[in-house]
Amino acid sequence: MLDVRGLRKVYEGSGRRVEAVRDLTFTVGPGELVCLVGPSGCGKTTLLKCVAGLLAPTGGEVLLEGRRVDGPPPAMAFVFQEYGRSLFPWMRVGENVELPLRQKKDLDRARRRALVRDALESVGLSDAAGAYPWQLSGGMQQRVAIARALAYEPRVLLMDEPFAAVDAQTRADLEDLVRGLWRERGITILFVTHDIDEAVYLGERVIVLSASPTVVREQLTVDLPAGRDQLRTRVDPRFAALRTRVYEQIQAAKRGDVPEVPDALTKSSTPPPR
Ligand code: ADP
Ligand code: MG
Repeated sequence: MLDVRGLRKVYEGSGRRVEAVRDLTFTVGPGELVCLVGPSGCGKTTLLKCVAGLLAPTGGEVLLEGRRVDGPPPAMAFVFQEYGRSLFPWMRVGENVELPLRQKKDLDRARRRALVRDALESVGLSDAAGAYPWQLSGGMQQRVAIARALAYEPRVLLMDEPFAAVDAQTRADLEDLVRGLWRERGITILFVTHDIDEAVYLGERVIVLSASPTVVREQLTVDLPAGRDQLRTRVDPRFAALRTRVYEQIQAAKRGDVPEVPDALTKSSTPPPR
C-alpha cells in the first residue's frame, strides 16, 4: 500500500542545515495499522509530511499503491497534532468536516451532507454539527478533525501525535475510537507517537525510529489480540514485554548505540493477519 524507500530529508536555508531524516525504508500493507515511535525531534512529522506529499524529500521516494507521491494524493488524509490550529474557528463543525469534500467534484451536495453526517456519527459527535470548534473541548475538537479525515473516505490515514495534547482519560477513549474505526472501515493507518505505551496498545506493528538523523531501528509485530481493552491489554504480560523492548530500543537510540538487529530482520516484515 505504502512504500517508503531510502527517504532522506535535509532542511536548508538561512545558513542552517538540518539533516532531519537520514535513511528510512519500510512498508505498510493494505489495511494495516502501523505505529511509528521515536523521540521528540527525531523527524516523525517530517517523515509524515513527506509521505503525505506536503514536503518534497531530499532523497528516496514514497510510493502509494505503486505510484510515486509528489503532491497530496486524494487517497490520503492527515490528522495533525494541533487540533486547535487545524479547524477553522469561523466555520461550524459540520462545515469544517465538509470543506475538503468540496474539492471532490463528483460529489453532489446531498452526498456530501450524508458523508459529513456519517463521519460525525462515527466519532460520536452527531449533535455537534452546528457548534463552533471553540465551543468544544480539546478531545471533541480532535474528534472533529478525525471526522473530517474520515468523511474524505481515504484509503490511507496519517496521524501525527493526534492525542499528545489531551488528558489521559480522553486519550484512552480516542485510542479506542481509532482502533474501532480501523476495524470497521478497513483503512490503512500510519500513526505517529512519541508514547511507547500508545504505540504498542494501538499498533499491529511498531516501527521504532532512532534519534535524528533518523533511521529505522527496529520493527516489532504486536501479537496481542485484535480486540484490545484499556484495562486488560495493558496488564497483559505480553504488552509489558513489548513495551519494555520498545523502551530499550529508544534508550539505546538516544545513546547512539548501533542496533543489534540485523538488517534482514528489520527490513522485511509481513503484516500479521487481522
Ligand atoms: P518530530 O516530529 O519527531 O518531533 P520534526 O520532524 O518536527 O520531529 O523535526 C525533526 C528535525 O527537523 C528537528 O531538528 C527540527 O528542528 C527540524 N525541522 C523541522 N522542520 C523544519 C523546517 N521547516 N526547517 C528547518 N528545520 C526543521
Ligand atoms: Mg512532530
